[in-house]
Amino acid sequence: MKYKIDKEKCISCGVCTATCPNAIELESDGKAKVINHKELEKCGGEKVCPMGAIEKISSEKEVK
Ligand code: SF4
Repeated sequence: MKYKIDKEKCISCGVCTATCPNAIELESDGKAKVINHKELEKCGGEKVCPMGAIEKISSEKEVK
């Protein structure tokens, strides 16, 4: 399973990095970035973000 961040929805709150430090980091613009999809899946996937900014994507083809 892979995930992507909807930067429009991300409010840079840091909840995801606090919950899954091995899976997500904040970029210089303050928005979240998935650095390890497997780790993110293990610690809750899209449910980690209270804003719904983490989206599940089924295949790499859909990554924009
Ligand atoms: Fe952005 Fe959601 Fe992470 Fe907060 S928890 S920084 S809104 S992706």
